[in-house]
Amino acid sequence: MEQPRLDWARDWLNKNSHTLYYGGEWRKPEGSTPFTSINPATGAKLWEFPESNAKDVERAAAAAKSAFHSAAWRDLSRAERATRVKRIGAVIREHAAELATLESLDNGKTYAESFVDDLPESADVFDYYAGWVDKFYGETCPVERGFLNYTVKEPIGVCGLIVPWNFPLLLACWKIAPALAMGNTVVVKPAPFTSLTLVRLAELIHERQILPPGVFNLVLGGGEAGQALSQSPLVDKISFTGSTATGGHIVQSAGKSNLKALTLELGGKAPVLCFADLKNPDAVIQRIFQATFSHKAEKCTEPARILIEESIYDKFAHALVEKAEKFRCGDPFAESTQQGAQCQKDHFDKILNYIRIGKDEGAKLLCGGERDSSPSAQNGLFIRPTIFGNVKQSMRIAREEIFGPVLCLQKFKTEDEAVQIANDTIYGLAAGAYTADNSRTHRLATRLEAGMVFLNHYGCYHFASPFGGIKQSGWGKEMAVHSLDGYTKTKSVWIRYEP
Ligand code: NAP
Ligand code: MG
Repeated sequence: MEQPRLDWARDWLNKNSHTLYYGGEWRKPEGSTPFTSINPATGAKLWEFPESNAKDVERAAAAAKSAFHSAAWRDLSRAERATRVKRIGAVIREHAAELATLESLDNGKTYAESFVDDLPESADVFDYYAGWVDKFYGETCPVERGFLNYTVKEPIGVCGLIVPWNFPLLLACWKIAPALAMGNTVVVKPAPFTSLTLVRLAELIHERQILPPGVFNLVLGGGEAGQALSQSPLVDKISFTGSTATGGHIVQSAGKSNLKALTLELGGKAPVLCFADLKNPDAVIQRIFQATFSHKAEKCTEPARILIEESIYDKFAHALVEKAEKFRCGDPFAESTQQGAQCQKDHFDKILNYIRIGKDEGAKLLCGGERDSSPSAQNGLFIRPTIFGNVKQSMRIAREEIFGPVLCLQKFKTEDEAVQIANDTIYGLAAGAYTADNSRTHRLATRLEAGMVFLNHYGCYHFASPFGGIKQSGWGKEMAVHSLDGYTKTKSVWIRYEP
């Protein structure tokens, strides 16, 4: 792992004035509402920027529209487009330590999580989708004699890409790479708490002249900018990752403007079922613990409810608590730190409030339940890994997305009961189960209601496999060939060749 670039980051933050980028130039935003970004691990101010307002967003969308129709982008050969897409990945790789440093300063996750988990994938996804540039195409359809009918896959146009603060660079790259590979242009809007890595990426794309002007555009700001993007008639598609509530607002905005295409990656409340016959309990417990508490549990697919068969419940609960109590919160840049700071104050308060709700509802607090008071965590937004036992499915902590280091343990007696509890949620992003019974494994694959089902190994991801939820966890998929459906439209062409 490369060392963090803290001195470089300090210099860069001191002199950075880049906040709005469109049409191939850095612009002075018309919006003047200041947003102060805080380092959540220390409480110190990182930087302040003016949020883009609706006019700024509209200008960025107009630049993206004009670039979409420009010869400079449209007439690039496929090979050349693929090369440009790959170059973005290469520049991310080259600047990985800088970007990982900015990510950890802004988001609060450990530097190791940024550098090892987020950065390689942020770069590699560009290689993956560069490979699809000449491999995603239409078909010839078997229609009646005398007619030729074929389909073509065309880019949609201007894609508004709205991303949350938990994996700021990575989730943006998951969208930018396939959107550009298919020939679209993009306006990216990160969450205001975590804009730094995308500002830096825009700088690198600009300095290296990787893309024609207007193909990649960046607006900064919160709900107003996001809403302007989703309401804009110039925007043809929104790909959004964030909460289910905001996803609903975006659907309304799209409906009221131009019925733009939508891909929505929304909230989750993933259950993991642990049956008494499971193999290798120590490894299972370690995997569940890691899947839950890494990235300070601000992950949409993280296990939130562990459903444990009655006979192994005490042993499981005890082992998870033992790990939680030893877990060290603190400076994201210290090698000994295992859990960083929650990303922002409102969210931190929301998590602590859910912990209060859990206690009031009568769940049994097994560990954690408060902010971390160790010296290295004094001024930051650190919450001790928290585990509640004897959680009932009727409790709010079992039903609502907490998105922080709070794990609910629930007991079950039979497979039917476990499946019923697992599926009793508005969400359907991910679910998992551990059992040595092969028949049950296959049964659960069909019975669990989720877009991703992890059996005997929780939390698997690969560019070649679709990522996304069902129920109120989302519309459409990211990753693999499935993502490309979301960034193309299918045109059907008919030609009569016999009179
Ligand atoms: P959020 O509040 O929904 O915000 C997401 C983004 O939307 C932010 O950039 C936000 O700006 C913007 N926004 C807010 N109001 C908007 C509006 N009316 N129109 C358009 N954009 C708007 O979500 P978050 O709290 O940042 O992220 C946590 C959520 O993301 C969790 O629910 C989590 O499960 C979900 N998530 C899902 C996935 C997945 O793949 N399914 C992955 C990661 C996270 P502001 O920050 O200023 O509000
Ligand atoms: Mg921040």
